[in-house]
Formats: sequence, C-alpha cells, structure tokens
Amino acid sequence: GGRAPRGSCSPGSSGSPSLRNPRYRVVLLGDSGVGKTSLVNLFAGVQERDLLDQHGGAAYERRLTVDGEETTLLVLDTWEPEQRVRWGWVLGCHQAGEESQRRSHCLQIGNAYIIVYSVTDRDSFESASELRIQLRRARQAEDIPIILVGNKTDLVRCREVSEEEGQACAAVFDCKFIETSAALQHNVAELFEGVVRQIRLRQGSKKS
Ligand code: GDP
Repeated sequence: GGRAPRGSCSPGSSGSPSLRNPRYRVVLLGDSGVGKTSLVNLFAGVQERDLLDQHGGAAYERRLTVDGEETTLLVLDTWEPEQRVRWGWVLGCHQAGEESQRRSHCLQIGNAYIIVYSVTDRDSFESASELRIQLRRARQAEDIPIILVGNKTDLVRCREVSEEEGQACAAVFDCKFIETSAALQHNVAELFEGVVRQIRLRQGSKKS
C-alpha cells in the first residue's frame, strides 16, 4: 500500500484514523535483552522490518483482524533503557540529553504500551515497575492501555519471577498481564490481540 508520510510518528497524527481501519501506535518498553525485538519480529514477520521511525529505531506495521474488525498496529521498538543515561558522562552530556529526550518522546506518543521483562531476570522486572511509574507520570490524566509482559517462559529452570508475582504487579499497577515465550511463539499473537482489545475498550468508553 501507499507509504504514510514521514511525520506519521508525530503525536498528532493519529487524530483522524479512518473508521474502517484505525491505526494505533504501540510502544515497546523494557530493559535490553528481555525479548522486545524478538516479540515484535514474530508479530510483524522479519521481512516487514522496513519502516524506520524518525529517530532511527525500528517500527513495524501490520494489519490484523481482531473480533472481526480490522486494525493497523504500528509497533515501535525504539526504547533505549535508562542504563545508557547512567553512562551519560561517558557519552557526553549532549548525547545523554538526546537519549532522555528520546525516552520522554516514547512515553508521549503511544496509544498503548507493552512493558516487557524477562521472567529469568529480576532486575528487568524491577525496571518494568519503574517504567510503569514513569509512564503514569508522563501521561497523568490519560487512561492508556498498558500490558505487562513476562517473556522467556520457556527457560523454566532459570525463572526468577513467578507468574503470581507478575500478576500481582499488574494488579497493583492497573495493567493487563500475560506471559509469553518468543522462542516457542507462545502467547505472542494473544499479546497483540489483547493490545487491540484494550485500545478498543477505552475508545468505546470515550464515545459513550
Ligand atoms: P531486546 O533487547 O529486548 O529487543 O531483546 P531481543 O529480542 O534482542 O532478545 C535478547 C535475547 O534473548 C536474544 O538472544 C533472543 O534470542 C533471546 N530471547 C528473546 N525472547 C526469548 C524467549 O522467549 N526465550 C528464550 N529462550 N530466549 C529469548
């Protein structure tokens, strides 16, 4: 199909999605190594990794039909975890400033967020909570859908975070929760369908 203009990642561009095929921006957050790129590759198919967003990160676009209605999801895998900024003194202040600007941009542009941690890495689980807090701060007045994802469930013997802990965290932070394995392709389709349903639920309640 026709390519959307470059500006398609800017905050205002989802203002008038076509009613028949609305387009939503979903941003992946989480520490590096937790499986964000693997999950989105499964969602989009590696060959579709052809869209680059305005910051040089990867954006993946795919149409999907959920509950009989078509939607286009633009999934942004552009998150630079905080660690990079702690090293700001190495990168130089200018670059560190850019990094943090880019992060706050990420927190502003999503219609929905997927916060990923690895069930084999407790630090990444702690980071997920911090991200939820940052997101709440950045989008205070808004009720944006957030899905907490515990990935790498196939690594049974390396598990550091139980499913119950994940669920409890999601309950506290008022988000949805799902465990996935990108390696086994388990629950990946369900994750993205869930995102669409969460967005629709919010849209529906706004209209009424
Ligand atoms: P990102 O930095 O969050 O984008 O993480 P990547 O998608 O690059 O994944 C980091 C590493 O974890 C790669 O070696 C992946 O192959 C591996 N990985 C990702 N998801 C899974 C999973 O569900 N199970 C296992 N065993 N490995 C995974």
